[in-house]
Amino acid sequence: MPKDYYETLGVERSASKDEIKKAFRQLARKYHPDANPDNKEVAEEKFKEIGEAYEVLSDDNKRRMYDQTGRVDFGSGRQDFTWEDFTHYSDINDIFDRIFGGGFGGFGSDSFFGGFGRNSGPNLDMAMQLEISLYDVYYGTKKAVKYRRNAPCGECNGSGAKNGKLNRCNTCGGTGQQRVVQGQGFFRMVSVTTCKTCGGRGSIPQEPCKSCKGSGSEVVNEELEINIPKGAVDNLRLRVKGKGQAHNGQVGDFYVILNVSNNGKIRRINDDLHINKEITFPEAALGTDAEVEIFDEKFPFKIPAGTQPGETIKIKNAGIPHLSSRGSGDVVVSVKVEVPKHLSGKQKDLINKLNDELKKKHSWIKG
Ligand SMILES: [Zn+2]
Ligand SMILES: [Zn+2]
Repeated sequence: MPKDYYETLGVERSASKDEIKKAFRQLARKYHPDANPDNKEVAEEKFKEIGEAYEVLSDDNKRRMYDQTGRVDFGSGRQDFTWEDFTHYSDINDIFDRIFGGGFGGFGSDSFFGGFGRNSGPNLDMAMQLEISLYDVYYGTKKAVKYRRNAPCGECNGSGAKNGKLNRCNTCGGTGQQRVVQGQGFFRMVSVTTCKTCGGRGSIPQEPCKSCKGSGSEVVNEELEINIPKGAVDNLRLRVKGKGQAHNGQVGDFYVILNVSNNGKIRRINDDLHINKEITFPEAALGTDAEVEIFDEKFPFKIPAGTQPGETIKIKNAGIPHLSSRGSGDVVVSVKVEVPKHLSGKQKDLINKLNDELKKKHSWIKG
């Protein structure tokens, strides 16, 4: 069953960003697993659900995608949310501060957050779905996309340090990782987490950059022009390197995932384009010159005498250009023979005569 994020947060579909944030904060306090020690597993599940709903509804792009399609891509085509996808810690920092006793860098310390901040680091890639037409696929095109992201701070080149001057972090010795021992006795667990002092960078600014206050990143409105290649297929992922989220000196990539919409008249099967062509019975019987329109192109072809209804005629190399090799698919024309619904008296006479002729021939064949 598709998730109803609005229902999860208990807000109207028309809810403003503030209403959504308020609802999320209330629920986050209520369902935080540490606030529900007797019912931790259920609370964890619930907490993740509201985290997912908030991630989507607080982001204009994701919310629009969700409203239009009922689903959201959390990166690389995944639709299952993990805490790595959560980008709004700042909205509930105070709640987490109380629970983990630390700022942003502290999230990795709790097993509950899965892999966030572990050796592999958070997933900084971003993805957006883009609807394109078969026309776009046939000719290739460029599309503009707009989104918001944390970009490396232009003032300090993402280092977070004034003039780029950094010192090695003493807490982790420059590795960016810390070993944390949790629990006691039998339940003792050692986990490797992101260093809280340096946030995983292994270094700290001598003096924080004024522009980004030492975070190394700044929120920017990104606008990219995406090249849509000829022959693009549904779910094709186009990567724009270094245009994802910036965090602790690392930058992810931005992905555009293409959705190719259907065309009413022209059907795509692989790189072939299938189209119907209506002709009259005399044309089918006697043969004729015909033409099909494929987008802005016109392709003439011959219908041979004696063509049967449903027969197909191939126009070589008139289809969609192959994405990863030379050449193109074909246009496949299905011949439909029109049977007239309304006939004039003269037409009826002619068809009756023809019918008599055909019957004579048949009876002669049958003997
Ligand atoms: Zn450190
Ligand atoms: Zn900066």
